[in-house]
Amino acid sequence: MLNNKTHIAIIGGGCAGLSAATALVERGLTVTLFEASPHLGGRARTVETKQHSLDNGQHILLGAYRETFALLRKASVHIDQSFLRLPLHINMQSNHGHSVFRLKSVPLLPAPLHLLFGLLGCQGLSWQDRIAAIKLMLHLKKTNYGIAQDMPLDSFLMAQQQTANLTKMLWEPLCLAALNTPIVKASTRIFLNVLRDSFSGHQRNSDFLLPRQDLSKIIAQPLARYILNKGGVINLNQAVLSLDTQQNSIGQDGFNIETAHGSQFFTDVIIATAPNHVAKLLQTLPLVDDIREVTQSYEYQPIYTIYLQYPESTQLPQVMSGLCHSTGQWAFDRGQLCGQLGLLSVVVSASGEHQRLTQSQVALMVAHELKLAFPNLPKPLWHKVIAEKRATFSCDAMLDRPSNQTLQPHLYLAGDYTYADYPASIEGAVRSGLLCASLIASEGLKGD
Ligand SMILES: Cc1cc2nc3c(=O)[nH]c(=O)nc-3n(C[C@H](O)[C@H](O)[C@H](O)COP(=O)(O)OP(=O)(O)OC[C@H]3O[C@@H](n4cnc5c(N)ncnc54)[C@H](O)[C@@H]3O)c2cc1C
Repeated sequence: MLNNKTHIAIIGGGCAGLSAATALVERGLTVTLFEASPHLGGRARTVETKQHSLDNGQHILLGAYRETFALLRKASVHIDQSFLRLPLHINMQSNHGHSVFRLKSVPLLPAPLHLLFGLLGCQGLSWQDRIAAIKLMLHLKKTNYGIAQDMPLDSFLMAQQQTANLTKMLWEPLCLAALNTPIVKASTRIFLNVLRDSFSGHQRNSDFLLPRQDLSKIIAQPLARYILNKGGVINLNQAVLSLDTQQNSIGQDGFNIETAHGSQFFTDVIIATAPNHVAKLLQTLPLVDDIREVTQSYEYQPIYTIYLQYPESTQLPQVMSGLCHSTGQWAFDRGQLCGQLGLLSVVVSASGEHQRLTQSQVALMVAHELKLAFPNLPKPLWHKVIAEKRATFSCDAMLDRPSNQTLQPHLYLAGDYTYADYPASIEGAVRSGLLCASLIASEGLKGD
Protein backbone atom coordinates (compact mmCIF):
# COMPACT_ATOMS: atom_id res chain seq x y z
CA MET A 1 0.00 0.00 0.00
CA LEU A 2 1.27 3.48 -0.86
CA ASN A 3 0.94 5.96 1.98
CA ASN A 4 2.67 9.06 3.20
CA LYS A 5 5.48 6.84 4.51
CA THR A 6 6.20 5.52 1.01
CA HIS A 7 9.64 6.76 0.04
CA ILE A 8 11.13 5.56 -3.22
CA ALA A 9 14.86 5.51 -3.95
CA ILE A 10 16.01 5.61 -7.55
CA ILE A 11 19.60 4.57 -8.16
CA GLY A 12 20.94 6.21 -11.32
CA GLY A 13 20.16 9.51 -13.01
CA GLY A 14 20.20 8.53 -16.69
CA CYS A 15 17.10 8.65 -18.92
CA ALA A 16 15.57 5.63 -17.14
CA GLY A 17 16.01 6.97 -13.60
CA LEU A 18 14.89 10.47 -14.58
CA SER A 19 11.76 9.23 -16.35
CA ALA A 20 10.83 7.02 -13.36
CA ALA A 21 11.35 9.96 -10.99
CA THR A 22 9.29 12.30 -13.20
CA ALA A 23 6.36 9.87 -13.36
CA LEU A 24 6.47 9.21 -9.60
CA VAL A 25 6.62 12.84 -8.45
CA GLU A 26 3.83 13.60 -10.90
CA ARG A 27 1.73 11.09 -8.91
CA GLY A 28 2.63 12.95 -5.71
CA LEU A 29 5.01 10.30 -4.38
CA THR A 30 8.18 10.98 -2.38
CA VAL A 31 11.31 10.27 -4.40
CA THR A 32 15.05 10.51 -3.79
CA LEU A 33 17.33 9.94 -6.77
CA PHE A 34 20.99 8.99 -6.23
CA GLU A 35 23.48 9.65 -9.01
CA ALA A 36 27.09 8.52 -8.64
CA SER A 37 28.57 11.16 -10.93
CA PRO A 38 28.49 14.97 -10.65
CA HIS A 39 25.95 15.22 -13.50
CA LEU A 40 22.67 13.71 -14.64
CA GLY A 41 21.99 12.18 -18.04
CA GLY A 42 24.17 9.04 -17.87
CA ARG A 43 25.00 7.93 -21.39
CA ALA A 44 23.01 10.80 -22.95
CA ARG A 45 24.71 13.93 -21.67
CA THR A 46 26.91 16.86 -22.54
CA VAL A 47 30.57 16.73 -21.62
CA GLU A 48 32.17 20.03 -20.63
CA THR A 49 35.85 20.21 -21.58
CA LYS A 50 38.05 23.23 -20.81
CA GLN A 51 37.08 25.01 -24.01
CA HIS A 52 34.09 23.18 -25.42
CA SER A 53 30.75 21.74 -24.63
CA LEU A 54 30.30 18.49 -26.58
CA ASP A 55 27.73 15.72 -26.35
CA ASN A 56 29.12 12.35 -25.24
CA GLY A 57 27.78 11.04 -28.54
CA GLN A 58 25.75 12.28 -31.47
CA HIS A 59 22.29 11.05 -30.52
CA ILE A 60 19.56 10.47 -33.11
CA LEU A 61 15.99 10.12 -31.95
CA LEU A 62 13.24 8.65 -34.11
CA GLY A 63 9.80 10.10 -34.69
CA ALA A 64 8.55 6.83 -33.16
CA TYR A 65 10.03 7.73 -29.73
CA ARG A 66 6.60 8.78 -28.50
CA GLU A 67 7.17 8.30 -24.76
CA THR A 68 10.40 10.30 -24.82
CA PHE A 69 8.80 13.25 -26.56
CA ALA A 70 5.71 13.11 -24.29
CA LEU A 71 7.99 13.11 -21.24
CA LEU A 72 10.08 16.01 -22.54
CA ARG A 73 6.93 18.02 -23.34
CA LYS A 74 5.80 17.46 -19.75
CA ALA A 75 9.11 19.00 -18.67
CA SER A 76 8.35 22.03 -20.91
CA VAL A 77 10.84 21.13 -23.66
CA HIS A 78 9.76 22.67 -26.95
CA ILE A 79 10.34 19.73 -29.29
CA ASP A 80 10.35 21.69 -32.56
CA GLN A 81 12.88 24.19 -31.22
CA SER A 82 15.06 21.63 -29.49
CA PHE A 83 15.26 19.06 -32.29
CA LEU A 84 15.77 19.25 -36.03
CA ARG A 85 13.22 16.96 -37.69
CA LEU A 86 14.47 15.32 -40.90
CA PRO A 87 12.10 13.12 -42.93
CA LEU A 88 13.84 9.82 -43.68
CA HIS A 89 16.66 10.64 -46.07
CA ILE A 90 19.77 8.49 -46.24
CA ASN A 91 22.62 9.76 -48.35
CA MET A 92 25.77 7.63 -48.50
CA GLN A 93 28.92 9.38 -49.63
CA SER A 94 31.71 7.28 -51.21
CA ASN A 95 35.40 7.69 -50.51
CA HIS A 96 35.70 9.06 -54.06
CA GLY A 97 33.84 12.23 -53.26
CA HIS A 98 30.40 11.45 -54.67
CA SER A 99 27.05 10.17 -53.50
CA VAL A 100 26.64 6.41 -54.08
CA PHE A 101 23.29 5.77 -52.43
CA ARG A 102 20.31 8.00 -51.79
CA LEU A 103 17.04 6.92 -50.23
CA LYS A 104 14.39 9.54 -49.61
CA SER A 105 10.92 8.82 -48.32
CA VAL A 106 8.01 10.33 -50.27
CA PRO A 107 6.53 12.77 -47.74
CA LEU A 108 2.91 12.96 -48.90
CA LEU A 109 2.27 9.21 -48.92
CA PRO A 110 1.05 7.28 -45.85
CA ALA A 111 3.42 4.76 -44.22
CA PRO A 112 4.75 2.37 -45.42
CA LEU A 113 4.06 3.60 -48.99
CA HIS A 114 6.32 6.62 -48.31
CA LEU A 115 9.17 4.14 -47.91
CA LEU A 116 8.18 1.70 -50.68
CA PHE A 117 8.02 4.53 -53.23
CA GLY A 118 11.25 5.88 -51.75
CA LEU A 119 12.86 2.48 -52.43
CA LEU A 120 11.56 2.51 -56.01
CA GLY A 121 13.23 5.86 -56.63
CA CYS A 122 16.34 5.03 -54.63
CA GLN A 123 19.72 5.82 -56.25
CA GLY A 124 22.62 3.36 -55.94
CA LEU A 125 20.58 0.15 -56.05
CA SER A 126 20.01 -2.06 -59.08
CA TRP A 127 16.44 -3.05 -59.95
CA GLN A 128 17.18 -6.47 -58.48
CA ASP A 129 18.21 -4.81 -55.18
CA ARG A 130 15.12 -2.60 -55.11
CA ILE A 131 12.74 -5.45 -55.82
CA ALA A 132 14.37 -7.57 -53.09
CA ALA A 133 14.00 -4.69 -50.59
CA ILE A 134 10.37 -4.02 -51.53
CA LYS A 135 9.53 -7.76 -51.32
CA LEU A 136 11.02 -7.88 -47.83
CA MET A 137 9.09 -4.78 -46.69
CA LEU A 138 5.83 -6.28 -48.02
CA HIS A 139 6.61 -9.60 -46.33
CA LEU A 140 7.30 -7.78 -43.04
CA LYS A 141 4.06 -5.85 -43.29
CA LYS A 142 2.19 -9.14 -43.80
CA THR A 143 3.85 -10.77 -40.79
CA ASN A 144 3.52 -7.61 -38.67
CA TYR A 145 7.33 -7.45 -38.49
CA GLY A 146 7.45 -10.62 -36.37
CA ILE A 147 9.57 -13.77 -36.63
CA ALA A 148 9.03 -17.10 -34.92
CA GLN A 149 12.60 -17.55 -33.74
CA ASP A 150 15.20 -14.85 -33.23
CA MET A 151 18.43 -15.16 -35.24
CA PRO A 152 21.40 -12.99 -36.26
CA LEU A 153 20.30 -10.36 -38.75
CA ASP A 154 22.74 -11.41 -41.49
CA SER A 155 21.22 -14.95 -41.53
CA PHE A 156 17.72 -13.50 -41.74
CA LEU A 157 18.66 -11.18 -44.62
CA MET A 158 20.28 -14.04 -46.49
CA ALA A 159 17.19 -16.21 -46.01
CA GLN A 160 15.11 -13.28 -47.35
CA GLN A 161 17.35 -13.10 -50.46
CA GLN A 162 18.62 -9.62 -49.79
CA THR A 163 21.52 -8.87 -52.14
CA ALA A 164 25.03 -8.08 -50.88
CA ASN A 165 24.81 -4.51 -52.20
CA LEU A 166 21.47 -3.89 -50.52
CA THR A 167 22.74 -5.24 -47.23
CA LYS A 168 25.90 -3.10 -47.45
CA MET A 169 24.09 0.10 -48.44
CA LEU A 170 20.88 -0.12 -46.45
CA TRP A 171 20.43 -2.87 -43.86
CA GLU A 172 23.90 -2.87 -42.33
CA PRO A 173 24.09 0.92 -41.74
CA LEU A 174 20.55 0.88 -40.34
CA CYS A 175 21.40 -2.03 -38.03
CA LEU A 176 24.55 -0.31 -36.75
CA ALA A 177 22.70 2.95 -36.21
CA ALA A 178 19.75 1.35 -34.44
CA LEU A 179 21.29 -1.59 -32.54
CA ASN A 180 24.99 -0.60 -32.36
CA THR A 181 25.73 -4.27 -32.94
CA PRO A 182 27.46 -5.97 -35.88
CA ILE A 183 25.00 -7.54 -38.29
CA VAL A 184 26.53 -11.02 -37.72
CA LYS A 185 25.30 -10.99 -34.09
CA ALA A 186 22.46 -8.46 -34.06
CA SER A 187 18.99 -9.58 -33.03
CA THR A 188 16.60 -9.77 -35.99
CA ARG A 189 13.61 -9.55 -33.65
CA ILE A 190 14.72 -6.24 -32.16
CA PHE A 191 15.73 -4.85 -35.55
CA LEU A 192 12.28 -5.66 -36.92
CA ASN A 193 10.66 -4.01 -33.89
CA VAL A 194 12.51 -0.80 -34.74
CA LEU A 195 11.44 -1.09 -38.40
CA ARG A 196 7.83 -1.77 -37.34
CA ASP A 197 7.66 1.24 -35.07
CA SER A 198 9.34 3.47 -37.66
CA PHE A 199 7.56 2.31 -40.80
CA SER A 200 4.17 0.91 -39.88
CA GLY A 201 2.44 3.78 -38.08
CA HIS A 202 2.34 7.43 -39.07
CA GLN A 203 4.92 8.41 -41.70
CA ARG A 204 6.45 10.91 -39.22
CA ASN A 205 7.52 7.91 -37.09
CA SER A 206 10.42 7.35 -39.47
CA ASP A 207 11.69 10.94 -39.15
CA PHE A 208 15.08 11.49 -37.57
CA LEU A 209 15.15 14.08 -34.79
CA LEU A 210 18.59 15.53 -34.09
CA PRO A 211 19.27 17.60 -30.95
CA ARG A 212 19.76 21.30 -31.82
CA GLN A 213 21.17 22.13 -28.41
CA ASP A 214 23.44 20.43 -25.88
CA LEU A 215 21.89 17.08 -25.02
CA SER A 216 21.87 17.80 -21.27
CA LYS A 217 19.99 21.07 -21.83
CA ILE A 218 17.13 19.32 -23.58
CA ILE A 219 16.91 16.05 -21.66
CA ALA A 220 18.46 15.78 -18.19
CA GLN A 221 18.22 19.40 -17.04
CA PRO A 222 14.53 20.01 -17.82
CA LEU A 223 13.59 16.64 -16.28
CA ALA A 224 15.62 17.48 -13.16
CA ARG A 225 13.85 20.86 -12.87
CA TYR A 226 10.47 19.13 -13.11
CA ILE A 227 11.41 16.58 -10.42
CA LEU A 228 12.76 19.24 -8.04
CA ASN A 229 9.73 21.51 -8.59
CA LYS A 230 7.45 18.66 -7.56
CA GLY A 231 9.41 18.05 -4.36
CA GLY A 232 11.72 15.24 -5.48
CA VAL A 233 15.28 15.11 -4.12
CA ILE A 234 18.31 14.61 -6.37
CA ASN A 235 21.62 13.66 -4.76
CA LEU A 236 24.56 14.05 -7.14
CA ASN A 237 27.99 12.57 -6.41
CA GLN A 238 26.32 9.91 -4.27
CA ALA A 239 27.03 6.39 -5.47
CA VAL A 240 24.89 3.81 -3.76
CA LEU A 241 27.38 1.41 -2.21
CA SER A 242 25.01 -1.27 -1.00
CA LEU A 243 21.40 -2.24 -0.65
CA ASP A 244 19.98 -4.49 2.12
CA THR A 245 16.47 -5.53 3.06
CA GLN A 246 15.30 -3.96 6.30
CA GLN A 247 12.23 -3.08 8.35
CA ASN A 248 11.73 0.44 9.64
CA SER A 249 10.63 1.45 13.12
CA ILE A 250 6.92 1.00 12.28
CA GLY A 251 7.45 -2.46 10.82
CA GLN A 252 7.36 -1.51 7.14
CA ASP A 253 9.44 -3.72 4.85
CA GLY A 254 11.96 -1.92 2.69
CA PHE A 255 15.64 -1.36 2.09
CA ASN A 256 18.58 0.24 3.73
CA ILE A 257 20.61 2.19 1.19
CA GLU A 258 24.20 3.01 1.98
CA THR A 259 26.22 5.83 0.41
CA ALA A 260 29.44 7.52 1.53
CA HIS A 261 27.18 10.06 3.28
CA GLY A 262 25.44 7.50 5.50
CA SER A 263 22.47 5.17 5.27
CA GLN A 264 18.75 5.75 4.78
CA PHE A 265 15.58 3.63 4.75
CA PHE A 266 13.34 3.42 1.66
CA THR A 267 10.15 1.46 1.13
CA ASP A 268 10.78 0.87 -2.60
CA VAL A 269 13.88 0.89 -4.79
CA ILE A 270 14.34 1.24 -8.53
CA ILE A 271 17.79 0.28 -9.76
CA ALA A 272 18.24 2.39 -12.91
CA THR A 273 21.92 1.87 -13.65
CA ALA A 274 23.52 0.41 -16.76
CA PRO A 275 23.55 -3.42 -16.61
CA ASN A 276 27.25 -3.60 -15.71
CA HIS A 277 26.55 -1.85 -12.38
CA VAL A 278 23.62 -4.02 -11.34
CA ALA A 279 25.30 -7.16 -9.96
CA LYS A 280 27.20 -5.33 -7.21
CA LEU A 281 23.98 -3.76 -5.91
CA LEU A 282 22.21 -7.13 -5.76
CA GLN A 283 24.91 -8.97 -3.80
CA THR A 284 22.88 -9.34 -0.60
CA LEU A 285 19.60 -10.28 -2.28
CA PRO A 286 19.48 -14.02 -3.10
CA LEU A 287 15.97 -13.81 -4.60
CA VAL A 288 17.43 -11.96 -7.58
CA ASP A 289 20.50 -14.11 -8.20
CA ASP A 290 19.24 -14.81 -11.74
CA ILE A 291 19.35 -11.08 -12.57
CA ARG A 292 22.94 -10.91 -11.31
CA GLU A 293 23.90 -13.79 -13.56
CA VAL A 294 22.13 -12.43 -16.63
CA THR A 295 23.55 -8.92 -16.36
CA GLN A 296 27.04 -10.30 -15.74
CA SER A 297 26.81 -12.29 -18.96
CA TYR A 298 26.22 -9.18 -21.10
CA GLU A 299 28.70 -8.03 -23.72
CA TYR A 300 29.07 -4.38 -24.68
CA GLN A 301 29.67 -2.37 -27.83
CA PRO A 302 31.57 0.91 -28.05
CA ILE A 303 30.61 4.14 -29.81
CA TYR A 304 33.33 6.61 -30.77
CA THR A 305 32.38 10.18 -31.59
CA ILE A 306 35.11 12.14 -33.36
CA TYR A 307 34.71 15.90 -33.26
CA LEU A 308 36.73 17.78 -35.90
CA GLN A 309 36.81 21.56 -35.91
CA TYR A 310 37.35 23.20 -39.32
CA PRO A 311 37.36 26.91 -40.18
CA GLU A 312 33.93 28.37 -39.40
CA SER A 313 32.94 28.73 -43.05
CA THR A 314 33.20 24.93 -43.59
CA GLN A 315 29.91 23.15 -44.35
CA LEU A 316 28.86 19.68 -45.48
CA PRO A 317 26.23 19.35 -48.23
CA GLN A 318 23.76 17.89 -45.69
CA VAL A 319 23.34 18.00 -41.93
CA MET A 320 23.76 14.21 -41.84
CA SER A 321 25.60 12.03 -44.39
CA GLY A 322 26.37 8.32 -44.40
CA LEU A 323 29.97 7.35 -45.19
CA CYS A 324 30.63 4.34 -47.37
CA HIS A 325 33.75 2.12 -47.18
CA SER A 326 34.96 4.13 -44.19
CA THR A 327 35.59 3.54 -40.50
CA GLY A 328 33.36 6.51 -39.73
CA GLN A 329 29.73 5.67 -40.52
CA TRP A 330 27.85 8.96 -40.22
CA ALA A 331 29.03 12.56 -40.41
CA PHE A 332 27.09 15.48 -38.94
CA ASP A 333 27.51 19.17 -39.62
CA ARG A 334 27.13 20.73 -36.15
CA GLY A 335 27.17 24.22 -37.67
CA GLN A 336 23.95 23.58 -39.60
CA LEU A 337 22.53 21.55 -36.73
CA CYS A 338 23.21 23.66 -33.67
CA GLY A 339 25.28 26.67 -34.66
CA GLN A 340 28.71 25.19 -33.77
CA LEU A 341 30.16 26.61 -36.97
CA GLY A 342 32.74 24.45 -38.78
CA LEU A 343 32.43 21.63 -36.24
CA LEU A 344 31.83 18.17 -37.74
CA SER A 345 31.13 15.04 -35.74
CA VAL A 346 31.67 11.54 -37.05
CA VAL A 347 30.21 8.44 -35.41
CA VAL A 348 31.86 5.03 -35.36
CA SER A 349 29.42 2.49 -33.97
CA ALA A 350 30.20 -1.00 -32.66
CA SER A 351 33.47 -2.85 -32.23
CA GLY A 352 36.16 -2.79 -34.90
CA GLU A 353 39.81 -2.38 -35.78
CA HIS A 354 39.72 1.30 -34.77
CA GLN A 355 39.78 0.21 -31.13
CA ARG A 356 43.44 -0.81 -31.57
CA LEU A 357 44.42 2.77 -32.43
CA THR A 358 45.11 5.72 -30.15
CA GLN A 359 42.44 8.41 -30.12
CA SER A 360 44.69 10.77 -32.15
CA GLN A 361 45.22 8.05 -34.74
CA VAL A 362 41.46 7.49 -34.98
CA ALA A 363 40.90 11.24 -35.42
CA LEU A 364 43.55 11.49 -38.16
CA MET A 365 42.12 8.48 -39.97
CA VAL A 366 38.57 9.84 -39.83
CA ALA A 367 39.74 13.30 -40.98
CA HIS A 368 41.44 11.58 -43.95
CA GLU A 369 38.26 9.63 -44.76
CA LEU A 370 36.19 12.81 -44.60
CA LYS A 371 38.58 14.50 -47.02
CA LEU A 372 38.11 11.60 -49.47
CA ALA A 373 34.34 11.82 -49.16
CA PHE A 374 34.22 15.63 -49.27
CA PRO A 375 37.35 16.70 -51.22
CA ASN A 376 36.81 20.44 -50.56
CA LEU A 377 37.34 20.10 -46.82
CA PRO A 378 40.32 22.06 -45.47
CA LYS A 379 42.59 20.78 -42.69
CA PRO A 380 40.95 20.45 -39.28
CA LEU A 381 42.10 22.92 -36.61
CA TRP A 382 41.62 20.58 -33.64
CA HIS A 383 39.98 17.29 -32.79
CA LYS A 384 38.47 15.60 -29.77
CA VAL A 385 37.51 11.94 -29.56
CA ILE A 386 34.92 10.74 -27.05
CA ALA A 387 35.21 6.96 -26.85
CA GLU A 388 32.37 5.38 -24.88
CA LYS A 389 33.73 1.85 -24.50
CA ARG A 390 30.53 0.43 -23.03
CA ALA A 391 28.12 2.65 -24.91
CA THR A 392 25.43 -0.01 -25.20
CA PHE A 393 24.84 -3.66 -24.38
CA SER A 394 25.47 -5.80 -27.43
CA CYS A 395 21.97 -6.35 -28.78
CA ASP A 396 22.60 -9.97 -29.79
CA ALA A 397 20.02 -12.46 -31.06
CA MET A 398 18.22 -14.32 -28.22
CA LEU A 399 19.59 -12.03 -25.51
CA ASP A 400 18.01 -12.60 -22.11
CA ARG A 401 16.45 -9.34 -20.83
CA PRO A 402 15.27 -9.11 -17.20
CA SER A 403 11.85 -7.62 -16.53
CA ASN A 404 11.09 -4.47 -14.53
CA GLN A 405 9.41 -6.36 -11.70
CA THR A 406 11.74 -8.61 -9.67
CA LEU A 407 11.14 -11.51 -7.28
CA GLN A 408 12.36 -9.29 -4.45
CA PRO A 409 9.25 -7.43 -3.23
CA HIS A 410 9.45 -3.63 -3.75
CA LEU A 411 12.58 -3.86 -5.88
CA TYR A 412 12.32 -2.81 -9.55
CA LEU A 413 14.74 -2.61 -12.47
CA ALA A 414 14.79 0.22 -15.00
CA GLY A 415 17.32 0.87 -17.75
CA ASP A 416 17.55 0.46 -21.50
CA TYR A 417 18.44 -3.24 -21.17
CA THR A 418 15.14 -4.01 -19.41
CA TYR A 419 12.89 -2.73 -22.19
CA ALA A 420 12.96 -5.99 -24.11
CA ASP A 421 11.34 -4.74 -27.35
CA TYR A 422 14.06 -2.19 -28.09
CA PRO A 423 17.81 -1.99 -28.43
CA ALA A 424 19.78 0.29 -26.05
CA SER A 425 18.09 3.60 -26.72
CA ILE A 426 16.70 6.67 -25.03
CA GLU A 427 13.18 5.48 -25.77
CA GLY A 428 13.84 2.04 -24.23
CA ALA A 429 15.31 3.68 -21.12
CA VAL A 430 12.40 6.12 -20.80
CA ARG A 431 9.77 3.40 -21.26
CA SER A 432 11.48 1.20 -18.65
CA GLY A 433 11.39 4.05 -16.11
CA LEU A 434 7.72 4.74 -16.81
CA LEU A 435 6.90 1.04 -16.43
CA CYS A 436 8.61 0.91 -13.02
CA ALA A 437 6.64 3.97 -11.90
CA SER A 438 3.37 2.31 -13.04
CA LEU A 439 4.26 -0.91 -11.22
CA ILE A 440 4.85 0.99 -7.98
CA ALA A 441 1.63 2.95 -8.43
CA SER A 442 -0.38 -0.22 -9.12
CA GLU A 443 1.07 -1.86 -5.96
CA GLY A 444 -0.48 1.07 -4.12
CA LEU A 445 -3.87 0.53 -5.77
CA LYS A 446 -3.82 -3.17 -4.77
CA GLY A 447 -3.30 -2.18 -1.14
CA ASP A 448 -5.97 0.56 -1.09
C1 LIG B 1 27.89 7.54 -27.58
C2 LIG B 1 26.46 7.08 -27.48
C3 LIG B 1 25.58 7.31 -28.54
C4 LIG B 1 24.26 6.89 -28.44
N1 LIG B 1 23.40 7.17 -29.46
C5 LIG B 1 22.09 6.94 -29.30
C6 LIG B 1 21.16 7.37 -30.26
O1 LIG B 1 21.52 7.95 -31.28
N2 LIG B 1 19.83 7.16 -30.03
C7 LIG B 1 19.38 6.53 -28.89
O2 LIG B 1 18.17 6.39 -28.71
N3 LIG B 1 20.26 6.05 -27.97
C8 LIG B 1 21.59 6.26 -28.15
N4 LIG B 1 22.48 5.83 -27.21
C9 LIG B 1 21.99 4.97 -26.10
C10 LIG B 1 21.34 5.79 -24.99
O3 LIG B 1 22.12 6.90 -24.64
C11 LIG B 1 21.19 4.89 -23.77
O4 LIG B 1 20.49 3.71 -24.14
C12 LIG B 1 20.43 5.54 -22.62
O5 LIG B 1 20.90 6.85 -22.37
C13 LIG B 1 20.58 4.66 -21.38
O6 LIG B 1 19.93 5.25 -20.28
P1 LIG B 1 19.84 4.49 -18.89
O7 LIG B 1 19.17 5.42 -17.96
O8 LIG B 1 19.27 3.13 -19.11
O9 LIG B 1 21.35 4.22 -18.42
P2 LIG B 1 22.53 5.26 -18.14
O10 LIG B 1 22.42 6.43 -19.04
O11 LIG B 1 23.79 4.46 -18.18
O12 LIG B 1 22.26 5.79 -16.64
C14 LIG B 1 22.67 5.07 -15.52
C15 LIG B 1 23.13 6.06 -14.45
O13 LIG B 1 23.37 5.33 -13.26
C16 LIG B 1 24.47 5.91 -12.59
N5 LIG B 1 24.97 4.92 -11.62
C17 LIG B 1 25.61 3.75 -11.88
N6 LIG B 1 25.88 3.11 -10.72
C18 LIG B 1 25.37 3.87 -9.71
C19 LIG B 1 25.33 3.75 -8.29
N7 LIG B 1 25.85 2.68 -7.65
N8 LIG B 1 24.75 4.74 -7.56
C20 LIG B 1 24.19 5.84 -8.16
N9 LIG B 1 24.23 6.00 -9.52
C21 LIG B 1 24.79 5.04 -10.28
C22 LIG B 1 25.42 6.24 -13.74
O14 LIG B 1 26.39 7.21 -13.34
C23 LIG B 1 24.45 6.75 -14.79
O15 LIG B 1 24.28 8.15 -14.72
C24 LIG B 1 23.82 6.21 -27.28
C25 LIG B 1 24.71 5.95 -26.23
C26 LIG B 1 26.00 6.39 -26.32
C27 LIG B 1 26.95 6.13 -25.17
